[in-house]
Parts: sequence; C-alpha cells; structure tokens
Amino acid sequence: MQVVDAFSSSYRQAREKFLNAAANAGLTVTSYPHPLPGRDGEALALDVVRDGAADADKLLIVSSACHGVEGYCGSGVQVFALHDEAFRAQCAAAGVALLYLHAINPYGFSHTRRVTHENVDLNRNFQDFSQTLPVNEAYRKLHPLLLPDKWPPGALNAAALAWYVAGHGMRAFQTAMTSGQYEFADGLFYGGSAPTWSNLALRRALREHAAGVRQLAWIDLHTGLGPCGHGERGFAGKSGDHAALARARAWWGRGATPVTSLDDGSSVSAPLRGLMWFAPYDECPQSEITAIAIEFGTQPALKVVQALRAEQWLNLHPQTGAIQAAQAKKALRDAFYVDTADWKEKVVSQAREAMLQAFTGRVSAL
Ligand SMILES: [Zn+2]
Repeated sequence: MQVVDAFSSSYRQAREKFLNAAANAGLTVTSYPHPLPGRDGEALALDVVRDGAADADKLLIVSSACHGVEGYCGSGVQVFALHDEAFRAQCAAAGVALLYLHAINPYGFSHTRRVTHENVDLNRNFQDFSQTLPVNEAYRKLHPLLLPDKWPPGALNAAALAWYVAGHGMRAFQTAMTSGQYEFADGLFYGGSAPTWSNLALRRALREHAAGVRQLAWIDLHTGLGPCGHGERGFAGKSGDHAALARARAWWGRGATPVTSLDDGSSVSAPLRGLMWFAPYDECPQSEITAIAIEFGTQPALKVVQALRAEQWLNLHPQTGAIQAAQAKKALRDAFYVDTADWKEKVVSQAREAMLQAFTGRVSAL
C-alpha cells in the first residue's frame, strides 16, 4: 500500500479503510457504537483491533482521534500499519501484540470537531468528578475575548488579545487557553462535568483488551502543535511515575527527537489537566505502563488558535451562513491535518519508527 492511500477524506472513509484492513489481515474487530450519527448520517464507533498472539505479554496500543479531527492523521498511521507486512512480522517476531483503537472520539472526527459531542476536550476529561475541579482563572478572563459576540472579531478584539499576549507572554497565553477549564461548558478546552462517552468507551476497551498484560506500551497520535511534519514525542504517563518516564526516554528518545515532558516545560504543549493517558493506571493496574503521545506539527500556532476559535464560535451560532460554516470547518481540518503526500510520508515514517522502538528502543526487532 502507498502511504497516501492509507489516509482518508472523511471519517466514513477512514472507518471503511480501517475495517477493510483488519479484514484483509484476518483480524477481528470489536466495535463500541456511539449513540449519535455522523456528519453524513453514518454510524460512529470506537473500533478496536488486536493484531498478535493472544498470550503476548507485551502489548502496544496505537490510538487515534482522541481529539476527533486529529483522527485524519492517526487513522492513516493505523491503516498503513495493518497493511505493513514487514512491520507486522517484526512485531510478531519480537513477541509484541498490537492493539489499535480507531477513533476514540468518532463524533469529533466525523463532524470535524476537536472535542466530543459533549463539547469536551477528551484529554482534559479524566478527572475524579466527585472532587473539587481545578479552577483556571486565566481562562475565565480570556473566555469573552476568545469567543466574542461577532465573528470575525474586530480590531478591538485583536488588540485586546495582543495586549494580553504582550503583557503575559505567549506561553502564558497558551497555558491559559489550552491547559483545561471546567467552568465554561460552551468554551474552549472544556474538561466536562462528568466522564464523556469516549472516556467510558476507552476505559471499557482497555479493560476488555489490555488488562492483564504484563507490559503495556501506548502511542497516542495527535496533531496541531510544533513544526509542520515534525512528530514531538511527549511522555504520556502520570507525573511522578519516574520509572515510566525513564523507560519512555530509553525507548523513544533519540538525539534529534528526545521524549519531552509536560512536567518540566520541555514539551511544545502547555501543562494539562485531566489527561486521558491516566486511564490505563485505573483499568490495567497490574501492567507496567509506558506511554507517549506523538504530536505532529501542522500550521503556525496562532493560525491553529484562530481555527479553533472560529469553529467553536460557529458551533455556538448554528444559524451562521453555510459559506462561513464551511470555511470554518475547512480551516479546522487544515489546522489539524496537512493533506499533502510529503506530510503523510513524514507522519507514517516517524510513527512507524516509534512503534518499532516500543519495549526495546531498537528499530529492528529481528
Ligand atoms: Zn490532540
């Protein structure tokens, strides 16, 4: 299979390619159906495929579309891997089984949203909701500026945001906006008030397909931060799990692409709350867990921010004209998926390398 053929132009097509790839490889699919229809009326699901020996004590999870629209990237990686005979043979010889989680947030993937149907950023939703939730006072100040009454925003709005960035710095602006908030259910980077459908489906998939394995590795695929086409490998375990961070750095940190951490400021991402990556600690407690997220760069950060604001505004104003709505959706997709052969080749080659490095740090397992 050519790399470009593994990628799709809609969720429906991506799902079809994924299910076909699994069938061609003789693998069984477990589907967790989502209650709502997709953009084109299609069924939505988290689809799970396991490739490898049933008793393998090393399991590598590869997941896509935590942030719906980012699934265009992750799905392509998964579909290509299922067709990649050399890769599959290497994993089998190394005693590594693979578990593909296709479209953890299928609603967002299909409807070109980063968030779930509950308007929740899934990677801020893994909180204990019986406890007091964190307060993001900086976001509270920014909320009316980020989502003003009118769109496109006027010069005064742009000046107010520029003033904020000038006064606090770009990093503080990024942290305020993206680290997560639990106060504005219609806002950006909202973590929710309860576990979302995707949260519960992921937990169930982990219990049913990953619990009991001795060594669990996880590569969660994301887009939208960093230089275009570059995949930053970021530690995706609990802060304080120093042994896991050391393993992640030993396996996946290589010269020009070190494993970054949200805890020490080395990541392109701001510190985050309520991470999805905590789920295996709950659902697979007997496993040794080692996880990274790969964040593939797309567009300059401010362009991505504008696309997120515009699409969120559109969602809050459903009476918006069709042309403006289509533009906002296209801009959001472009912000999280670069539809060029060069970008897709870079994505697949970096993801494939990381998948082969799991458990050993070596690319050639044979
Ligand atoms: Zn993401």
